[in-house]
Amino acid sequence: MSRNRLAALPPIHRKLLLGSVLVIGTALLLPKHSELLPQRIPVQLDIESILEKSATIPSAEVLEPVADFQKQIVKGDTLSGLFEQGGVDQQTMYRVLEADLNVLALDTLMPGNNIQFWLNDAGELEKLSLYFNAARQVIFSRFDDGSFNVEEVNIEGIWRDRAISGQIHGSFYVSAQKMGLNAGEIQRVESLLKEKLNFARDLRAGDKFSVLMNDQFIDGEATGNSHVLGVTIERGSSSINAYQHTDGNFYDEKGESLARAFQRIPLMKNYRISSRFNRHRHHPVTGRTSPHNGTDFATPIGTKIVAPGDGIVSLVTDHRYAGKYVVIEHGNKYRTRYLHLSKSLVHKGQRVSRGQVIALSGNTGRITGPHLHYEFHINGRPVDPMKAKIPMASKLSSKEMTEFSHIVKIRKMMMGIA
Ligand SMILES: [Zn+2]
Repeated sequence: MSRNRLAALPPIHRKLLLGSVLVIGTALLLPKHSELLPQRIPVQLDIESILEKSATIPSAEVLEPVADFQKQIVKGDTLSGLFEQGGVDQQTMYRVLEADLNVLALDTLMPGNNIQFWLNDAGELEKLSLYFNAARQVIFSRFDDGSFNVEEVNIEGIWRDRAISGQIHGSFYVSAQKMGLNAGEIQRVESLLKEKLNFARDLRAGDKFSVLMNDQFIDGEATGNSHVLGVTIERGSSSINAYQHTDGNFYDEKGESLARAFQRIPLMKNYRISSRFNRHRHHPVTGRTSPHNGTDFATPIGTKIVAPGDGIVSLVTDHRYAGKYVVIEHGNKYRTRYLHLSKSLVHKGQRVSRGQVIALSGNTGRITGPHLHYEFHINGRPVDPMKAKIPMASKLSSKEMTEFSHIVKIRKMMMGIA
């Protein structure tokens, strides 16, 4: 939701749109449409525009019991502060954090998101809901023994294409913004083509650009989630382009990958695997299913960890159970996470390239011995890092190329390119 798109809507629609941002729980009624979605790097501008315009709009659509405490996150909020305001003690907060170890959703709360607490008759936390947007909520609910279950609710909604084209007058940023792309979308286009084009130097007035976006809608309202499907920039007689293939990676028309391929493990040599990825691992004490969402490598404290692919650091933080950890987004489909570090060597927002040392392994958090816990997510879903199908080659095979050429042809038509 860019400011422009928001402002362009008639007032009633704008209200509904903002209302939908605030409505908690309605989406929960449709769990059968659930599917995990890619998550994107937060775009500050979007959040501010929501915050600015969102007065308290009452929602008549919430059908579940009214929460005992509800708050829209603002800058400066802390987790312990929020729990305190919700009337929930610190020990319970730790139990929620423990349940969150496999999802790490609490650490991704941002201004504009909503948090809700439901207490039982004894005044104990019964349920906690995190509302990130209409497409994604995370819900914690209390077990009888006082520990918590965590559940991610992701709504797929529908995706619509949006083609944007224009000419360069001034910077690419200004020209693209005029045509309706928001700051986050422009940044994605620029980062996609960064190896092919210097946006500050290489463009001239009159050069043409086309972008094909794919936007998510739930109940007719934009969620703010969007993908780039294709980009073309025509400079005089030459053209630079990138199209997303079904593997999530971007390639030029000839099938050459724009991003460098991934390496399988984020380490400079092989280490023993001390615990494998296991979606159905049983917790030895509680007997409940407690997935192991990553691969553990038996790395001595201080082992260098490298980025397995190009990306942008989206989080560097410290967690009671996960320890010091780093999250990297690789385009909008892949994400990697590194837990129990002794030291991070990167900061949030930093661009990293494949092979770059990003951290030193350690034994922070709740852990029995030093190791690296490494997670690989595809479209927001953790997969086995050792087995997942990830782009490890830089060119599409001739078989893949047949499918890709067909995709490119259709997208070009949608973008009005001959
Ligand atoms: Zn692990």
